[in-house]
Amino acid sequence: MGMDRLQQANVIDGKAFAAGMLEHLKSDVAGLLTETGKIPGLAVVLVGDDPASAVYVGSKHRQTVAAGMNSFEHRLPAETSQSELMSLIERLNTDPQVHGILVQLPLPKHLDPNAVIQAINPDKDVDGFHIANAGRLATGQPALVPCTPLGCMMLLKDRLGDNLAGLNAVVIGKSNIVGKPMAQMLLNANCTVTIVHSKTRNTQELCRAADILVVAVGRPGLVRGDWIKPGAVVIDVGINRIVEGGKSRIVGDVAYDEAGHAGAITPVPGGVGPMTIACLLSNTLTAFRRQHGLAA
Ligand code: NAD
Repeated sequence: MGMDRLQQANVIDGKAFAAGMLEHLKSDVAGLLTETGKIPGLAVVLVGDDPASAVYVGSKHRQTVAAGMNSFEHRLPAETSQSELMSLIERLNTDPQVHGILVQLPLPKHLDPNAVIQAINPDKDVDGFHIANAGRLATGQPALVPCTPLGCMMLLKDRLGDNLAGLNAVVIGKSNIVGKPMAQMLLNANCTVTIVHSKTRNTQELCRAADILVVAVGRPGLVRGDWIKPGAVVIDVGINRIVEGGKSRIVGDVAYDEAGHAGAITPVPGGVGPMTIACLLSNTLTAFRRQHGLAA
């Protein structure tokens, strides 16, 4: 039961899906320009020079521009003070050209990320981290939803159709940025939702009952083949760098080559990862529409 058992049709190609989304977004942006004379704008704030963050921000900038949107990059020195950062957020909150604001995390240690996130106008909070958006999601109101679980939901619906009602969904991990919003979205879609985490006692048994299994932990190979119900759709959010035979590579949280009996599974890389930036741009478009009173 090796990787060859995972037939092509069972692999969820997030890279292709995200590329298709970007094409759609591009034509939506062009349509909005004709309709309103304006284009959506995304402001990304990066404080300090964390190399990984700089790569993410660069990639967000390129894709924003490629979608035909305005990209406003704010690269601030590591020694930026809390009040300087807060006044930038305040300016972006009131800038009519800016429809989405993202502060790249982690921030340098002397800065309080929570205070910064809660200072963002919730209607421009395209990361969906503001408590107003968490509350809207939890109560089933129109929210800006965190990008990674939003991407997972799109991949799930692409496989299973829009109606997920009554399916058993298990989410492993309960972080505010992936696990919890993922569970809320599945609940809003009328799944029967179980959240499994580091203190859960009967993890494997719960997972084996899942029609939908979303794994967001950060532990390579945590989910073994016998945790997966035959035919289940498995979404692997994990990104783990491992070194094998002197070579480094990225793997997910699921033992991929044991998952041949899954109905479908996202590979790592090339599954959930590419969806995150596509969903960020989709959220920016959603924010623009709502700010202009346009239909979804
Ligand atoms: P986190 O560290 O905040 O949360 C991990 C969760 O896993 C916790 O809720 C913890 O209770 C749970 N957990 C830990 N050990 C467990 C175990 N043995 N059994 C069951 N649950 C266990 O992580 P996060 O920010 O939610 O990210 C999770 C993973 O997803 C990471 O690998 C991260 O790199 C990846 N990630 C990917 C994307 C993307 O694809 N764009 C985005 C965000 C996070």
